[in-house]
Amino acid sequence: MTGFVRAYICVTCGVQQAASEEPPASCAVCEDARQYVGWQGQQWTTLDELRAGHSNRVEDLEPGLTGVGTEPAFAIGQRALLVRTADGNLLWDCITLIDDETVAAVRQRGGIAAIAISHPHYYSAMVEWAGEFNAPVYLHEADQRWVMRPSPRVRFWSGDARPLFGGLSLVRLGGHFSGGTVCHWPAGADGEGAILAGDVLQVVQDRRFVSFMYSYPNLIPLPAHVVSRMARRVSELRFDRVYGAWWERVVDRDGQAAVARSAERYCAALASEADELELG
Ligand SMILES: [Zn+2]
Ligand SMILES: [Zn+2]
Repeated sequence: MTGFVRAYICVTCGVQQAASEEPPASCAVCEDARQYVGWQGQQWTTLDELRAGHSNRVEDLEPGLTGVGTEPAFAIGQRALLVRTADGNLLWDCITLIDDETVAAVRQRGGIAAIAISHPHYYSAMVEWAGEFNAPVYLHEADQRWVMRPSPRVRFWSGDARPLFGGLSLVRLGGHFSGGTVCHWPAGADGEGAILAGDVLQVVQDRRFVSFMYSYPNLIPLPAHVVSRMARRVSELRFDRVYGAWWERVVDRDGQAAVARSAERYCAALASEADELELG
């Protein structure tokens, strides 16, 4: 006789694990220096439990772009983005909660042709979403070891860029994670172009800027040469808007210059030998 098998979900990071009879001993994503184990100790939930107390807000943000985020906020609290193109829709980044209402709202907007995710903190319940919409999930191979729930729908890509469809392309910046990726959406921002950045480029409180960190919760910066390289790669793309990983975390315009001045300021702070830093 076998026990009841469930795909447990970490309450702190929202990442779903491979199915098991007992909850896993620990969450590898949260044990990493970039995350943390919840203050009450490792806790697990399931999709059914999550559905009982949460729902998703689905909101159109601009022509061709819809945000999907869970309320009340769960785990890291990111919202995903559904990008609509004439050749199919991309779900950029992912969230843990998927329910009937969300599936209906997404289908009403044309469904999901593919999923792509910036980095492992947002792998969430990607396999559930991929199964529901019969969609492949594009992840950078450099972060393969962080896939907690393997699936034949997951497709690893390599190198620094991967064109998708409808003009969309994935661009690997590294930084926060070795495979840290942003999505370039040339049709976004009224044709000026947009970057869907996750927190690989983190839109900060002063929304004229972004930041670049190894760990956000633990405030561990990245080396200057890595930040410069990230900014250099982004400078090759044409865009005006940067969508961060949360509602309202958006550099609305002048995004190209915002990333450049953010990298410059960051590297200046790291390199300064002054006793009192003044960045103006
Ligand atoms: Zn976790
Ligand atoms: Zn992250």
